[in-house]
Amino acid sequence: MTWAVIATWKMAFHGTETAAGILENNGTAADAAVTGVSLVEDEPSFHSVGYGGRPDRTGHVVLDGGFMDGDTLHFGAVAALEGFRSPVNIARSLISGNANNFLVGAGAAAWAESHGFEKRDNLTEEAREIYEREKERLKELTAYDGHDTVCFLTLDHNGTLCAATSTSGLFMKEPGRVGDTPVPGSGFYADSECGAAAATGMGEEILKGALSYAAVFFMKEGYSAMEAAQKAVDELDAKLKKRNGSANAMSLITLAPDGSWGVGTNVDFTFSTADKEHGTQLWSAAKVNGKTVIKAYEKEI
Ligand code: ASP
Repeated sequence: MTWAVIATWKMAFHGTETAAGILENNGTAADAAVTGVSLVEDEPSFHSVGYGGRPDRTGHVVLDGGFMDGDTLHFGAVAALEGFRSPVNIARSLISGNANNFLVGAGAAAWAESHGFEKRDNLTEEAREIYEREKERLKELTAYDGHDTVCFLTLDHNGTLCAATSTSGLFMKEPGRVGDTPVPGSGFYADSECGAAAATGMGEEILKGALSYAAVFFMKEGYSAMEAAQKAVDELDAKLKKRNGSANAMSLITLAPDGSWGVGTNVDFTFSTADKEHGTQLWSAAKVNGKTVIKAYEKEI
């Protein structure tokens, strides 16, 4: 059996190398996905996830995360969580049992505290300064660039697929706003028999198409990981443009049970992949004349 990793944005490159090492040494897809995401959560220079994430409209860094095991279809998720180090690890701790798998706000914080998860104020001095500056500059506070979710999809030697996600959501979001990232089916989905998918971009758009589930469904119907990712994004993008006149940013990664991967996007997007044969690679994807063009990433990271 093979192993494989795909992760969103170039910020996940080092996490992808670490996840690859775990899988190469017969580690589990769950450990690889969660370790990859939590490395990004701990890095203050990444401004859209965990420590150093951008605050909401009231200056609080409030986090969302999700995890899914493709063998059992069990998932765990937290949303609107403040004051803890790693939403993805807390999400993972919620997968057992058939209830209480998705906790938000004070309930998620109480769970994390009672289960010994490390506390952390995720607002860095740099993020606070940016918040103060932007707050004054903007007459009307709107969510805008400064978001990007980290998503990992992993396949291990046993054929298990897992998905893990983490984000601070949109900069200047309304307190209590939750996007797609912690929502199974929209922000992530994993089924070891069909494939896994995870999304980044404007959560309110991704939620309209249950985008991750759409791609996994297409893989179940026989589409390749690449076809499924592009079909899911392109169809939702076209539908939103037809119904509403525009479609906001959406990017999707997919991983099939055979380790092949795919990407669909309607904006410029970077991602990394790893497998035994090719090692860890960094890529860029863009929409050119209606087609998704994927190239090796050529700039410094
Ligand atoms: N999808 C995330 C959200 O809407 C943000 C992002 O991926 O950029 O919260």
